[in-house]
Amino acid sequence: MFLKYLIDHTKTLGFKVSAWYSTFYIISSFFLFGITYYFISVTLTNQDHEEIFLELSEIASVYENNGIKAVENFISQSDNLSRTKPLFIRIADDENKTIQIFNKKFWGNFNISFIENFLLDNSKKWLQIDDFDRKYVLDVTSTQLSNGQWIQVGMSSEGRVKILNNLSKIFIVIMILLFVIGLIGGIFLSYLTLRPIRNVIESVQSIEVGKMAKKLPRPMTGDELDELTELFNHMIENINRLILNMKNSLDNVAHDLRTPLTRLRNLAEMALLENSQKDTQINALQTCLEESDQILKILDTIMDISEAESGSMNIDLKVENISKLSERIIDMYQIVADEKKVKINSSIPDRLELMIDATRIGQVIANVFDNAIKFTPAEGTIDFAIFPDNNKIKIVIKDTGIGIPKEDLPKIWNRLYRGDQSRTSKGFGLGLSIAKGIVEAHHGKIELDSEPNKGTTFTIALPK
Ligand code: ADP
Repeated sequence: MFLKYLIDHTKTLGFKVSAWYSTFYIISSFFLFGITYYFISVTLTNQDHEEIFLELSEIASVYENNGIKAVENFISQSDNLSRTKPLFIRIADDENKTIQIFNKKFWGNFNISFIENFLLDNSKKWLQIDDFDRKYVLDVTSTQLSNGQWIQVGMSSEGRVKILNNLSKIFIVIMILLFVIGLIGGIFLSYLTLRPIRNVIESVQSIEVGKMAKKLPRPMTGDELDELTELFNHMIENINRLILNMKNSLDNVAHDLRTPLTRLRNLAEMALLENSQKDTQINALQTCLEESDQILKILDTIMDISEAESGSMNIDLKVENISKLSERIIDMYQIVADEKKVKINSSIPDRLELMIDATRIGQVIANVFDNAIKFTPAEGTIDFAIFPDNNKIKIVIKDTGIGIPKEDLPKIWNRLYRGDQSRTSKGFGLGLSIAKGIVEAHHGKIELDSEPNKGTTFTIALPK
């Protein structure tokens, strides 16, 4: 199953992350290996050179004190010199002509006759002779004896090159193993880590159009994926609510338009009756006009709400005296309130200026005020207050009316929603939706607090 996942998912995020990580790891390992290789190579070369210097001074003193035979004995006695790590030992005259080369059999691969071409000096410089295969180098150093002859000692780089080659091979094998383990391990880890994302993908795929009731199971790990799942569920909930709202709105529009349209049709039918009088026809036409205006008003308001909700409402912002605007609206409603025996108390400062679209905000205040009067029985009161509060201006409209049941509160802002008790009063259930849309288009907030049979308080907060 995991192998199938591995083969199928070379394009997945998990695979890519692991591949990038492994590649980065390999590159940095190569860099580290390069540095290590360099230091080991320098150390080995220094070690070899030190050994050569040591042997050179020893052999020089043996030769000077006891002659060539003694050198031969010294070499054959020193087992490790002749077998495991042979030394190149050469005695030359003062003109660098070879007197004797010891252990000659070991140096068949090197062009040692070429050594006579070098100009020798005593500064401990290194002569380097390549082998015929150009694989190894013979490092040679020289010292001049008191009689003018030269003693040279050298060593092939074969030993250290072999060590370094083995090191490279081991490194490459380890790197390949680590790369494969890193890649497989990375994919496995990301397979585990990304499992919640796959769950989200599978769940989203299983959601069919129109069937969005399903929720994603939360991993409950408290990490980002858990948060993502929660946000996704929240989003589904919002979409569901929007779809339901749209459906209800459509049902309501159809229902609310049906009555005036039927009336319109009946009127036209009556006017067309053969024996109808001219007066009746004119009256019918007038009522038709009124009904059509009513329908157009509903449709205009619905479109206004859509514009406000989508953020495309045309708002003409100007500095306005909101105190004066409020007073005008209260004056307008005073007659209706007096007729209903509802008392209006208002607390409005002399002058309060704000950047608003006066027509639209006037519409908001009027809608809320209209509801307050509509839903407040005789002898009730409406308190209207407007005041600055921090960086906002608050408008509070409080009535002692019938109130709104708790279960209806969330629906109150929906288009065409009308409470059961308000079915008999006039209105289309659009007043609060448009009010909310306009306030939000002004970056403000409209809230309400209500208790059935006690009253309702609407608070509109507009930024200064
Ligand atoms: P309507 O045209 O029906 O007044 P609104 O959108 O203005 O439409 O209001 C929606 C519903 O909210 C009303 O039908 C009513 O049930 C309820 N409502 C609004 N304001 C008040 C209030 N001040 N008191 C009680 N109920 C209210």
